[in-house]
Amino acid sequence: MNQPATNKPVASLRNLRRSFSQGGETIEVLRGIHLEIRPGEIVALLGPSGSGKSTMLQAIGLLEGGFEGVIEIAGVDASKLSGDARTTLRRDSLGFVYQFHHLLPDFNAVENVVLPQLVAGKTTAEARARAEELLTALGLGHRMEHRPSQLSGGEQQRVAVARALANRPALVLADEPTGNLDEATADRVLEEFLKLVRGQGSAALVATHNERLAFRMDRVLRLHEGMLE
Ligand code: ADP
Ligand code: MG
Repeated sequence: MNQPATNKPVASLRNLRRSFSQGGETIEVLRGIHLEIRPGEIVALLGPSGSGKSTMLQAIGLLEGGFEGVIEIAGVDASKLSGDARTTLRRDSLGFVYQFHHLLPDFNAVENVVLPQLVAGKTTAEARARAEELLTALGLGHRMEHRPSQLSGGEQQRVAVARALANRPALVLADEPTGNLDEATADRVLEEFLKLVRGQGSAALVATHNERLAFRMDRVLRLHEGMLE
């Protein structure tokens, strides 16, 4: 475990609300979410398409405004931060995996995992060693120099997982990370992801509509009519 031995929640939501106006109509997507995620805890977020999973992850990811309520990351109230401080908090505490990999197409696998570490201030040698360690653990030791377009969907998602974990974030936010893969590949990639997350003591919040995958996690939350049940 590499995370500090603190019991402070890595994320805390109090009365989180979000609505969207569309064609003169207001849709209340999140209607008062309360949630605490503890260090090292792996939490599944279940809900059908359109239930607000991505909206909730975007709130915790500090990527968008428009939310009401309190969002704390690593004990810090995000609403009290400047844009720069929020970017730093996001960089230092959070990792992201999306349904589609969002890798940089002109960089190879190892470079995609090195880059966020350089941004976080690591040396090239450290970043490269860490990238190779992660990609090897994910079975991509023989694909380090391949660009995303030269990789299969499962391999692309493994690189995205390595990139998200590279800076050992306290919390990994994963939005249907295996939603674009066939069942067998999805199972394997999720298993490898969970193993690495547990191994380094990160917490994770994983949105999925797959119950079977959800029940491999420590806790299962369900989004229903804008609330957690
Ligand atoms: P999920 O990830 O569970 O499929 P989302 O969080 O993407 O659900 O979306 C929840 C609801 O919010 C949907 O009805 C969607 O249409 C609506 N929504 C999401 N983002 C926006 C937006 N930027 N503008 C308007 N409506 C949105
Ligand atoms: Mg979504």
